[in-house]
Amino acid sequence: MGTLTAEERHFFRSDVNARQSQRKQRTPQGHITEAAREIPVHERCDVLVLGGGPSGVAAAVAAARSGARVVLLERYNHLGGLSTGGLVIWIDRMTDWQGEPVIQGLAAEFMDRLGADAIAGPPRKDWGSQDPDAAAHWGLRTAAFHGVVTHSPTIDPEILKGVYHQMAREAGVDLILHGWMVAPIAEAGRVKGAVFESKQGRRAILAKVVVDTTGEGDLYAAAGAAFDSDIDTHEIHHCINTSWLFAGVDMQRWLDFRARQPEAFSGFMARGREEIGSFEKPIVSWRNDVATFLGPRKSGFSALDVDEMTQVEWESRKSMAEHLAFYRAHAPGFEHAWIMLVAPQIGTRHGRRLVGVKRVLRSGWDAGAVEDDEIGISPSPSPRFPNISVPYGALVPETLDGVLAAGKHIACDTNSHGFLREIPQCWLTGQAAGTAAALAADSGVLPRDVDVKRLQALLSAQGVPLRQASVAVPA
Ligand SMILES: Cc1cc2nc3c(=O)[nH]c(=O)nc-3n(C[C@H](O)[C@H](O)[C@H](O)COP(=O)(O)OP(=O)(O)OC[C@H]3O[C@@H](n4cnc5c(N)ncnc54)[C@H](O)[C@@H]3O)c2cc1C
Repeated sequence: MGTLTAEERHFFRSDVNARQSQRKQRTPQGHITEAAREIPVHERCDVLVLGGGPSGVAAAVAAARSGARVVLLERYNHLGGLSTGGLVIWIDRMTDWQGEPVIQGLAAEFMDRLGADAIAGPPRKDWGSQDPDAAAHWGLRTAAFHGVVTHSPTIDPEILKGVYHQMAREAGVDLILHGWMVAPIAEAGRVKGAVFESKQGRRAILAKVVVDTTGEGDLYAAAGAAFDSDIDTHEIHHCINTSWLFAGVDMQRWLDFRARQPEAFSGFMARGREEIGSFEKPIVSWRNDVATFLGPRKSGFSALDVDEMTQVEWESRKSMAEHLAFYRAHAPGFEHAWIMLVAPQIGTRHGRRLVGVKRVLRSGWDAGAVEDDEIGISPSPSPRFPNISVPYGALVPETLDGVLAAGKHIACDTNSHGFLREIPQCWLTGQAAGTAAALAADSGVLPRDVDVKRLQALLSAQGVPLRQASVAVPA
């Protein structure tokens, strides 16, 4: 890493808006002692999945389809985490730079089940195309980068919530919504379940294996697993903001303005920055009359501090009102814009990253070595690099037992976090974690002792592209 230039090191720069104001500094006003008490065991299962975001849904569905008795606990009223409730409706690249779909399996199934009205993106035949007209067209629509058309569609979040829910039900997942995991149940370095809070009070769920898909490693951190919290302030991987949608717009007119009047567009952006400061441009959605704003990306706030998160909510809402007024007044296609929705879930990109048995590292991108415990293949961040191998070891805590991590808090460095936190990669690690958890529960071994060859064969049979799957799955 020492020889890398700043440009080589930072792949996900874009606009990062440094913190503008301080929240009130709160210090503990003393301490109280919580009394010990007996609590009911709400459920016993093979695999407990904590958090119903992209990684959690994939983990729960994969584990249940593998034959495990699965409980999925989610604190809100819907599934999908940031991919639905966070309004992150732009699903990042699932194809590599040659147009080959490398993130598949459940990822492909989620997309296929949306239906034509709920997804917008290039047709299959164009993935990988370097045709300049196609690349220019899709480049304006979040689906072409470095002159290559990619499979990175935008989707309808409400339909995706329904798809997730339906697939969880079909697989036989025991879904609990409106329940907040508050504490691990662990003994002698092994997690055996979790305590959650709901309107029913405090209850326990016991499991053979727990999968932490809370996004911020809430379970593994509380149970004592080591984690990294360093960030790269030059990259957007750590930024935080609440997203929003404007409706009543004409995105085609807006895109025509961007493409055909570049000078007027840069004047518009300059004026926006001058008047608003942290200024954001919209991206397309699944409909021409809906615009998506996934920023302004705020730096300097913690995703683990309630006061800071509260401040981000206020600043995002204030920013949205300023954007609405400015866009209505100055942006072609936005004259009749109205606020369709502010995301019900705050957009936290980074909280903690597991210290795992293995880590995905920036220093490994160039060589593109295939890990012997590969559980998925991620597209690389630029055509300069080969595809990136995701190892099972990045889901397994270095020391803590009985638990696997999946999603944006797996083991990696800050640069690799830039793409491993994306939704397709969260589906990928979720599917692997769920399959591994079911295998561990069924064979009575710890997750770290799972037969990796068998895991790879199972994933391969589920349609996950792998370069290490050589073992046939017994019927
Ligand atoms: C503003 C923004 C823009 C982004 N842009 C893109 C993009 O364009 N393309 C892309 O592919 N990705 C993008 N990402 C990244 C991507 O959305 C997330 O990294 C991804 O959704 C993470 O998935 P996850 O399953 O790890 O966690 P999450 O999506 O955060 O889901 C975690 C789930 O766990 C639940 N949970 C958490 N704690 C508990 C608890 N204690 N008890 C019960 N439930 C709990 C939460 O409610 C949530 O449903 C963006 C992220 C943000 C914030």
